[in-house]
Amino acid sequence: MLDDFDRYPLTFGPTPIEHLPRLTAELGGSVEIYAKREDCNSGLAFGGNKLRKLEYIVPDAIASGADTLVSIGGVQSNHTRMVAATAAKIGMKCRLVQEKWVPHYDAVYDRVGNILLTRLMGADSRLVEDGFDIGIRSSWEDAMQSVRDEGGKPYGIPAGASEHKFGGLGYVAFAEEVREQEAELGFKFDYIVVCVVTGSTQGGMIVGFAKDGRADKVIGIDASGTPDQTRAQVRRIVDNTAELVKLGRKVSDDEIVINPDYAYPAYGVPSDETNDAIRLAARTEAMMTDPVYEGKSMQGMVDLIKKGFFPEGSKILYAHLGGAPALNGYSYYYKDG
Ligand code: PLP
Repeated sequence: MLDDFDRYPLTFGPTPIEHLPRLTAELGGSVEIYAKREDCNSGLAFGGNKLRKLEYIVPDAIASGADTLVSIGGVQSNHTRMVAATAAKIGMKCRLVQEKWVPHYDAVYDRVGNILLTRLMGADSRLVEDGFDIGIRSSWEDAMQSVRDEGGKPYGIPAGASEHKFGGLGYVAFAEEVREQEAELGFKFDYIVVCVVTGSTQGGMIVGFAKDGRADKVIGIDASGTPDQTRAQVRRIVDNTAELVKLGRKVSDDEIVINPDYAYPAYGVPSDETNDAIRLAARTEAMMTDPVYEGKSMQGMVDLIKKGFFPEGSKILYAHLGGAPALNGYSYYYKDG
């Protein structure tokens, strides 16, 4: 599906699929849980899902003659960390707009974790007051213009590298990779559980798994708290990506499965249940999930298993997309463990 597209390697290669026997047993053993470790995909600044997307965007950035990658996210954005890492690795400059997406209480929230790493990699990171929104923002356009005003040539990468023409390709590749790994394992996964916010991770997976009729087995767990906007964005990304990779048919609305039940109380704010899920994954499998994204998809998977959503005997693949550096900005939740 991807032979027509250039890919600039930023990851180690295929990510491991790990069986999670202790988490499986803790949840009653009626389904088998595995994780695909996208959080361990690269040596670039702790890696994560954005690098898979950026692998298909970097060739376009280089071809454009740009000298500066420009992007946007929250203060503790994993995405902007990954754009900063990519810029450092390919020898470009990086300008970032970091918005106040999350109310925060930790005194060091804007100094540790993702933003600390971002600054260390030399990105010009500018904090602004705007709140959470996954769409294209005026502050991003302003950042592009500020690079031009200084005589530079910007290359814009939208929030989450999602609404970029090539934003969905990386996770089409994920589906192809899973199919190859399934052939080696000798079984197929019945469900894939994935966190969704800006949409191109799940959107790419949906197109990739539509090829063998499994798009609706990709269960998106919304962490945006604005699920209508996320769903509309996933829809657009699916349509654009399906056309790019010549899927040959339209993905129907009911093949796009997004569960909105676990994003509460708000984007970037973990509920007690999110924190319980984070502790559970940490204490059974030493698998670190974060309070913004993966903790919520872990919470969703755990709850859906407990509710019997997945038929007995199902094999579930939890896509672990990264994000653990943000934990540092949330230490007050976990001071007692
Ligand atoms: N998980 C992590 C760790 C992320 O950084 C993101 C980024 O937004 C997501 C999940 C959600 O992915 P997407 O924005 O492609 O929907």
